[in-house]
Amino acid sequence: MKKQILPLFLLLSSTTWSFAQKLSPTETKIIAQVNAQMPQMEEILKKVVNINSGTLNHEGVREVGAIFRKEFDDLGFKTEWISLPDSLNRAGHLVAERKGTKGKKLFLIGHLDTVFEKAMSFTPYTYLNDSTVTGQGVSDMKGGDVVLLAALKSLKDNGLLDDTSLTIYFTGDEESSGKPTSVSRKDFIDRAKKCDIALAFETAIGLNTVATARRGSSGWKLNVKGIMGHSSTVFSQKAGYGAIYEAARILNDFREQMSHEKYLTFNPGLIVGGSEINDNKEAIGKDNIISPRVSVTGDLRFLTEVQKEKARVKMREIVSKNLNKTKAEIIFQDGIPAMEPTAENEKILAVLNQVSLDLGFGEVKAGDPGSRGAGDISYIAKYVACLDGLGASGKGAHAPGETMNMKEFPKLVQRTALLIYRLTR
Ligand SMILES: [Zn+2]
Repeated sequence: MKKQILPLFLLLSSTTWSFAQKLSPTETKIIAQVNAQMPQMEEILKKVVNINSGTLNHEGVREVGAIFRKEFDDLGFKTEWISLPDSLNRAGHLVAERKGTKGKKLFLIGHLDTVFEKAMSFTPYTYLNDSTVTGQGVSDMKGGDVVLLAALKSLKDNGLLDDTSLTIYFTGDEESSGKPTSVSRKDFIDRAKKCDIALAFETAIGLNTVATARRGSSGWKLNVKGIMGHSSTVFSQKAGYGAIYEAARILNDFREQMSHEKYLTFNPGLIVGGSEINDNKEAIGKDNIISPRVSVTGDLRFLTEVQKEKARVKMREIVSKNLNKTKAEIIFQDGIPAMEPTAENEKILAVLNQVSLDLGFGEVKAGDPGSRGAGDISYIAKYVACLDGLGASGKGAHAPGETMNMKEFPKLVQRTALLIYRLTR
């Protein structure tokens, strides 16, 4: 037993000593403050996780917003609630701002809603073991919201928020944004444009991976027409192939010709065909009738706008090579833009990496953009430098039973506090 304890003790003491060397006296004070306030911060986390705030539960989203609003008021931010038109059926957003002249102007992103609507079964904030907590939105992303709050509080308590320019934006509908997004994200985009750097606190993948890029997503709809006729005449010059064969050809060509490109995916999510289809995507068909109509809807995910445009050109080309007596058109809808990997994003990563090394937490690298979906930060990625995945380290987001790693929680707060401190000097 003794043999094991001794090396561990030496290891711990040497780590403490080495990072103390790399942090300034002010930074050492910040870390001490983070550690001192962790119990209080966990209480806030527990409180917000125990309020259901599914995107459509407006009352719950506002209640979580009110808790954070009070905290940001206490830190000296000017806070406001951004309401959206009733037609969007969303709760609105929380904004907290402070203006100053020091360092970079930061835009700090969180969200108040979760995917868990009120009708779904409720999981309260619960410890599964000494280092793992579960609860609604604990990792996506109430944990991340609290990482940010805790970091800012440690700076405030050391007088280090004075004269900084920070805009905190917690949206109320990240999981299912109000449509059109040109309305639900207008204020978000307008405010971000006035900043230099955006940091988003979506789920972290441990201590050593963040996101310098996220794929964008968009939608498409394929409409195919054929000539209705007796099944026995299918393939003939006069009857042609019908809409169902043509739709199958198109989808198969998409897959064969385009499925090998890195970061590009296109998934048909719904297909309806038959002798009649209606606007509710219901169909009637008979085995002995050649189908005159097919409708397919799907998504398209991409890493850059160039990749998106090239994919659309290719898809249109495939769609246009119709089988005999069929016609097809494809309509694209823009969704969430991509957060493209840029040199500016890499520069923020370099600052974060240095913070992490100085804290003794190891190197931080950019994760695989293919592993993440689109997020709120993507709407502003073309205007400011961006980094995402700074939030709580967790697993199983969007599924009941999502968890947060409580051992890494204080470390992520420490890292965020020093990152914001260094960027705002
Ligand atoms: Zn999220």
